[in-house]
Amino acid sequence: METLPTPYFVIDETILQKYYHMLTESLQANWDNYLVGYSFKTNSLPWLVSFVKRNGAYAEVVSEDEYLLARYLGYENHEIIYNGPYKSESSFRDILLAGGYVNLDSKLELSWLKSLASEYPGQTFAVGIRANFDLEKMCPGETTMGEISGRFGFCYETGMFADALGQLRKIPNVNIVGLHLHSSSKSRSVDIFRSIAKMACQLQQEFHLSLSYVDLGGGYCGGMKGRPEYPDYFPAIAQELSKCFSPAETKLIVEPGISLISKCTTFVTSVFDVRDIKGSRYVMTDGSRFNIDATMIKTSHLFHTDYAESEMPPEQRRIMEEQVISGYTCMECDRMFLHENAPELLPGDRIIYENVGGYTMSLNPLFIQYFPPVYVRQEETLIQVRRKWTPEDYVRGSLLS
Ligand SMILES: *Cc1c(COP(=O)(O)O)cnc(C)c1O
Repeated sequence: METLPTPYFVIDETILQKYYHMLTESLQANWDNYLVGYSFKTNSLPWLVSFVKRNGAYAEVVSEDEYLLARYLGYENHEIIYNGPYKSESSFRDILLAGGYVNLDSKLELSWLKSLASEYPGQTFAVGIRANFDLEKMCPGETTMGEISGRFGFCYETGMFADALGQLRKIPNVNIVGLHLHSSSKSRSVDIFRSIAKMACQLQQEFHLSLSYVDLGGGYCGGMKGRPEYPDYFPAIAQELSKCFSPAETKLIVEPGISLISKCTTFVTSVFDVRDIKGSRYVMTDGSRFNIDATMIKTSHLFHTDYAESEMPPEQRRIMEEQVISGYTCMECDRMFLHENAPELLPGDRIIYENVGGYTMSLNPLFIQYFPPVYVRQEETLIQVRRKWTPEDYVRGSLLS
């Protein structure tokens, strides 16, 4: 079956469906008033977007382009959650006018809202606000921003958040109905989410908020051995939230990305050459670090190997102390990992990377090679859901001199 030309991504639909069910079942069991907003930036492959849409997820978008993609793929304005620092005013207005979810991130957006509200005095606008708070203090060593501040939303500790609420409360036809508390963490621990839920309560009480939703954002783990899964997070979250909210009045919004799609996605590459230079064995493969680690932060990968049947079986090959698994690009840094104390890899062997669904396809550059194809595994068949990009795709929209 897997004799297709490499490289390519494969999404296993059965596993994806399993994770989607695990998410909604554990939300249902712990907070039965919930909404899933799928994080477009994590992976906006059209097939995936239509999969989550069919399963009831709204679109969580963080730019005008993502907003336009959501619209293009069939989302109505009221089915969109609009986040992040880089919204466009026209899409901001369209979503608010239609009753979609907008989580304010800046003073600029406050001014857009003021103009919109005064232009439509007969309409009431429901908005959410993103709180920036010191999660590191609650969970030392666990957050991405560390002790320096995060840069999104209105800062609670400096009084910006209180100030923004004050300004919003002066606009007669604006209601503050939601809190957005997305924070990225290194640990993705249950404690992180317990602390975020605690913060929701603290803000609600301190500012006497009457909220129709609390949006905890994304950043969950899923499909990682020894790490939390959805059923670990939501009992803890519900326990905290129920101290000041109830499902009858307040919807819990979650914005999963990587936790939904990691486990089901693999990237299949082949060795096309091996070479020895000054004592190093370089294994040249047709995948690249840009395909699976575009932010260049990984030092190890989950993977398995599939040895070519035309070559010696692995038991008969010599064991090599170190092989430098490298990509096809002409960049020296395009080295994926050190393969240690393993049978010698030879041309035709395959390296299949696991857990590569998030921040890979969406971060792929058009560098040296165009986008690889994507297949979906349904039972025993592979269906191509994105063909390999061609020069025609690349030049679309360009002029020649
Ligand atoms: C990135 C992001 C997400 C998704 O994060 P994952 O780590 O992929 O789950 C959700 N919400 C917001 C606001 C984000 O910026």
